[in-house]
Amino acid sequence: MVRIIRKIFRIISIMFNKLIEYFLKFPGIGPRQAKRFAYFLASQDEKFIKDLSGEISDIKNKIKQCPDCFRFFSRSDLGGKRSDLCSICSGLNRDKNILMLVEKDVDLESIERAGIYNGKYFVLGGVMPLTGDKNNLRFKELFDKAKNYKEIILALSANVEGENTARYIEKILEPLKVKITHLGRGLSTGAELEYSDSETIKNALEGRK
Ligand SMILES: [Zn+2]
Repeated sequence: MVRIIRKIFRIISIMFNKLIEYFLKFPGIGPRQAKRFAYFLASQDEKFIKDLSGEISDIKNKIKQCPDCFRFFSRSDLGGKRSDLCSICSGLNRDKNILMLVEKDVDLESIERAGIYNGKYFVLGGVMPLTGDKNNLRFKELFDKAKNYKEIILALSANVEGENTARYIEKILEPLKVKITHLGRGLSTGAELEYSDSETIKNALEGRK
């Protein structure tokens, strides 16, 4: 029985090989899910496939990365005709003394949705794994930017990797003598900002130290 199942999996893998390889590059997707996605696509009609391919090929025309905070945003949300920046970075009512550092775009969205923060943002691009690998994280850009602010709020996940990353940031920003605060413990251990509700985020922000 096990041999038959293995054989079926091998056949599936060969059929969708390339597609599965792509899905495996998605965050949090393992081989089983990748195969499930491939099967799902195979079961859809041509219109669905055409529309989806169209959306994917058009993504670079529709979405832009802000050169200041590094978040992705819709080109229709440009912060002004002559600006290259997103609407948050070019917003005149934003407090330009406070910079909140988040791991990823969805965290920024959660905080914006809570509607209680009015400073600027910086998307780091993830957290440092315990191996200490710093690839793809914007520490250099953060250092260059941090000197222009009075306070940097570290809004990183309350887990080992998040705390590890926070310690590293404190170390590299030390020469700048900028005030560094952490979101309060309203966020329970292991909680991710992405899944936190507005009230939790509000308490964490007010309780920062
Ligand atoms: Zn921006």
